[in-house]
Amino acid sequence: MKLAGKTTIITGAARGIGRAIAEKFAAEGANLVLADIDEGALNEVANKLGAKAVVADVSDEKGASKVVATAVETYGSLEILVNNAGITRDALLIRMKPEDFDKVLKVNLRGPFLMSKEAARVMMKARYGKIINMSSVIGMRGNAGQASYTASKGGLIALTMSMAKELGARGIRVNSIAPGYIETEMTVNLSEEVIDSFLNRVILGRFPGKPEDVAETALFLAMPASDYITGAVIPVDGGMLIA
Ligand code: NAP
Repeated sequence: MKLAGKTTIITGAARGIGRAIAEKFAAEGANLVLADIDEGALNEVANKLGAKAVVADVSDEKGASKVVATAVETYGSLEILVNNAGITRDALLIRMKPEDFDKVLKVNLRGPFLMSKEAARVMMKARYGKIINMSSVIGMRGNAGQASYTASKGGLIALTMSMAKELGARGIRVNSIAPGYIETEMTVNLSEEVIDSFLNRVILGRFPGKPEDVAETALFLAMPASDYITGAVIPVDGGMLIA
């Protein structure tokens, strides 16, 4: 059991990549607190895995604080935070609604900021912690039709590096996973043009990637095996970034 007794919060855990991470971490013995806004799906996953479920909007201060407080009240510690919840509201720049731009930035960037701020208070006292931010290779390359999403993920990568610099002296590692195109409900709604723009760039030839591919990397970043890594961004993308 690679995560025995490690209290772990995973946001956006009701489905997709978050759910795959929850399943992998449960199998490795983690004490799980799963957060999502989709109550039905969240309870189903949490019941199956014996995890604590918290229905919360992590982009809201009260929601973020409730999730972290629940972890500490339930298990008495907090070692790992996976900031995975994210949304898209894709449109070409000239058609993108400012309120949609704001919403994407709020969930994808303000959410991890609020969650990390709450979690860091607990981790700093323990002088140990692992924070894993789910960004995207698109946050490093940009993509037509995804201005809000790419801005949020590029911002999350910068936030990861700043947090790594601030928190490293307290034993807290902060890293990011940058998935490529992974098969989840989020990518079901991508336009043909966006999918075509990805297709030719997956140099490993397997397309799309699976949530489990990302979960394996999350496990590595949560384990002591990665203790000398901080401020890193690890692409899990079949080679999309360099193609
Ligand atoms: P997904 O299938 O859409 O799942 C995301 C989950 O997060 C959903 O259950 C969603 O609930 C929840 N959520 C949304 N807003 C929330 C909020 N404010 N507070 C709490 N939970 C919230 O997405 P995914 O594909 O698994 O993606 C997971 C992460 O990986 C995201 O950050 C995404 O940007 C990133 N990523 C994904 C891909 C990919 O190809 N799939 C590629 C690169 C990066 P609702 O369903 O109710 O909205």
